[in-house]
Parts: sequence; C-alpha cells; structure tokens
Amino acid sequence: RMASPALLMRVVASAYSAAEKAATIVRNVMAAGDLGIVEKTGANDLQTKADRLVQMSICASLARKFPKVTIIGEEELSTDEVTEELIEDGHCEEILKKTCPAQYTGIKEEELVIWVDPLDGTKEYTEGLLDHVTVLIGIAYGGKAIAGVINQPYYNYEAGAGAVLGRTIWGVLGIGAFGFQLTEAPAGKHIVVTTRSHSNALVNDCISALNPDSVIRVGGAGNKIIQLIEGKASAYVFASPGCKKWDTCAPEAILHAVGGKITDIHGNPFQYNKEVKHMNSAGVLAALRNYDYYASRIPNTVKQSLVP
Ligand code: AMP
Ligand code: MG
Ligand code: MG
Repeated sequence: RMASPALLMRVVASAYSAAEKAATIVRNVMAAGDLGIVEKTGANDLQTKADRLVQMSICASLARKFPKVTIIGEEELSTDEVTEELIEDGHCEEILKKTCPAQYTGIKEEELVIWVDPLDGTKEYTEGLLDHVTVLIGIAYGGKAIAGVINQPYYNYEAGAGAVLGRTIWGVLGIGAFGFQLTEAPAGKHIVVTTRSHSNALVNDCISALNPDSVIRVGGAGNKIIQLIEGKASAYVFASPGCKKWDTCAPEAILHAVGGKITDIHGNPFQYNKEVKHMNSAGVLAALRNYDYYASRIPNTVKQSLVP
C-alpha cells in the first residue's frame, strides 16, 4: 500500500482546487454585473464582492481540511456566515502524484502559514483589465515561501471562442513550477514591469535610474511575476510600500521554484512567519535571471527612502 502523501502536497493539491473554485466565483461576480465596490484606505485600494466571497471560500475550505494551519487572508470580513456552496472539498490528483522534497516530508499543520490574496489586481478588475487579475495562495514554512498557487481567471479572455478561459500555475521549491511555459526575456534587453495604479515619484525615479529599454505598467503582483516567468519582462521593480505578504508569498514560491529571485528593494528576503508585519515597506525587486544586475543599480537615494 502507498504511504499517504505528505501534508505539504495535500495542502498544495487542495489549494489548487480552491483557486479554481475562486476563479469561477471571480468570473460569476463580474458576469452578474454588481461588483459591490467598497473603498478600503482610498480610491486606489478597493474591495469587491469577489474579493469577499473568494476569501471566505478559500479560507473556509482550507481551514476545514487543515484546521491547525494558520491562514492569513487580505480582507477583514465581518463574521459572515460561510455558506456551504462556497466550500471546495476537491484536490488536484496530479499534484498528489509528485514526490514531496525530503526536507518537507515531516512538516506538521501547526508549522504552515497560508497567505491568501483572494483577488490580486482589484483596481484593474473594476476597470475591465481582466487578465491582470489573479488569485494567490502562498504556503510558508520556517518563514520561507515554499509553495504557491496562482490562478488567472481570465487568461485567454481576448484569444477568441476556441481558447480555454483561465489557468492555474503552481509550484513547490525543489519540485518546480507547472501550468505555464517557462520563457526567458529577450537577451540583452532590459524590460521593467511595474505598477499601473500605484505609481509615485520614487517608483518612477527608481525605474528611470535603471535606464530600461521599455517599461510595462500592469496591475497585480501575481500578474507581474507571470510577466517574468513567461519572458515578457526582465525585472519587476516597485520602489514603494503598498504591496503585502499575501501579494508576494505565492509569486515568490513559484519564481524561486524556477530559479528566479525576489526581495525588497534593499535585497532583503521576505519573511512569511505568522507574526510578520503584513506590509512590504521596502518595496519589491524580482527577476527570473540577472537579479544582481538590477539590484546593483538601485540608487542609494531610493534605498534611503524605503525603510524595511
Ligand atoms: P500593483 O502593482 O499596483 O497592482 O500592486 C501590487 C499589489 O500591491 C496589489 O495587491 C495592490 O493592491 C498592492 N498595492 C501596491 N501599492 C499599494 C498602495 N499604495 N495602496 C494599496 N495597495 C497597494
Ligand atoms: Mg494583491
Ligand atoms: Mg487582493
């Protein structure tokens, strides 16, 4: 008889299915036409009905299966009743068939922290830039992002009727990342991807100092990591506070699983233990290749403006 799969693989397999259910909710809320937009800290920090329903769905579904795991979601929700139709109890069989890396086979529920961004790129979702939107489930152990799921509910939405809508990308350190075609950015070109809706003088000064060949401005931390692993951009540069641990945990695990690197603007690694401050106060710097090239060109004036 086969030994039962390691906890980490069961969590990732369940997160995969929870993210697919989340994508259905994201599409259904948009199709129904009433987004139920609420401003959080301001007009560029929004929450919709999809953010709320998806957070309830993912957190309740994973908590039911893994009651001792710490789950931290972006949205502060009043103690809403979670209806049974929001619960996903499935898992991805293909993930359970993969061998858990030896260093993770002994992990216990109490040692895992799951960071949930139910809808990353909410501002863009409300503006109809639908392929910027992702659902992020990051899994941390020992303060490190070790596994993650990124669902892109509107992948292919402009590709025409024959194309399959939506996709799920997942990865585990030591196994790799799946659900996309790993592609290098054009050699010798410096293409920077950054925020679309949270720019400021420091963000723009930092990008100018890198003297890039081009700049791509799109929404979402998840979406920007996808730009890196699919070769659309060579570096993700965001010299500002604003991005939080639930924005970076899943993207970090997937980027690191394929040999990339993400840190704050100083080069400090992010920590994901449950006590950590949520805000990534010192910004974000990430690349699939040539991380050191970009890190070495961040101006000291920019670094001095961003206290970790
Ligand atoms: P962006 O690249 O602007 O889409 O930001 C990536 C993630 O960080 C998204 O979840 C944003 O909501 C969040 N974020 C970045 N800057 C801010 C900000 N100034 N206020 C609120 N959220 C922010
Ligand atoms: Mg987000
Ligand atoms: Mg969000």
